[in-house]
Amino acid sequence: MPAAPPEPAPATAQQAQTKVIALANQKGGVAKTTTTLNLGVAFKEMGYRVLLVDLDPQGNLTMSQGMNPDAIERSMFDVLVHRVPISEIVERAEVDIAVASIDLAGAELALSALIGRERALEKALAEVRGRYDVVLIDTPPSLGLLTINAFVASSGVIVPVQCEYLSLRGLVQLENTLAMVRENLNPEVSVEGIVPTMYDGRTLHAREAIEILEENFGDLVFRTRIRKTVRYAEAPVKGSSVLRYDPSGTAAEAYRELAREIVAKEGLHGAQAREHA
Ligand code: ADP
Ligand code: MG
Repeated sequence: MPAAPPEPAPATAQQAQTKVIALANQKGGVAKTTTTLNLGVAFKEMGYRVLLVDLDPQGNLTMSQGMNPDAIERSMFDVLVHRVPISEIVERAEVDIAVASIDLAGAELALSALIGRERALEKALAEVRGRYDVVLIDTPPSLGLLTINAFVASSGVIVPVQCEYLSLRGLVQLENTLAMVRENLNPEVSVEGIVPTMYDGRTLHAREAIEILEENFGDLVFRTRIRKTVRYAEAPVKGSSVLRYDPSGTAAEAYRELAREIVAKEGLHGAQAREHA
């Protein structure tokens, strides 16, 4: 009798290995989108299978890979509101991106009338769990229904904070929202780490911002600092991550360092396991 083919790994074990992380801060301009893209590309360089989800109606993440949100026919709007399978709207760019379009702006309103409105993204991601090692969700600058959907679908939240305009009140508000989500919708979600961005070590102000962050949040503050440099603004204009735009520059290296720190701190299943398979 021929040997039976090997059993595929049980779906649940596979699913547990997809790590979903939301990038969130209700303040705009703190580098959520920049961090989503460059961290995602850094994980991909390490061998992980990466999906990025653009959940911001402004579509900056989608644009940063050279796509035009105004010209996109089907997007996360259709996934969330019309239950189109997410795999059908994923574009292959430097990494896979579930794209946003301008009509995503209407998603909060359209969703608000639906039962299970907070779980639309979680449900959509069930389709691709096991296909990716890490899913990074870029969120809009608000704590509305789209961001709540991201929190419900995630196990961790990474919070980029701008060293120039530190808002502790904003961070407390974010943590309160997360506490509500934990209580009612997703008990496992929590802040995985705070990333100081736009750091200029030459200014006392920036160094003080880091001190204040560490006093208040201790080990939650990642050791990696993302320095202030115009490279981060230049790369998306070319439809590129900074890792492709300037691969050997310090800006690219910063996000590689952050990726390594996250892997060391949190563990991430995938790349090494497949290398040795
Ligand atoms: P958010 O998604 O939080 O609104 P973005 O990622 O779009 O923030 O960043 C806001 C602006 O700041 C963009 O123009 C981006 O290119 C720029 N930027 C991001 N990170 C840095 C950095 N480390 N140094 C300088 N400029 C940055
Ligand atoms: Mg953004």
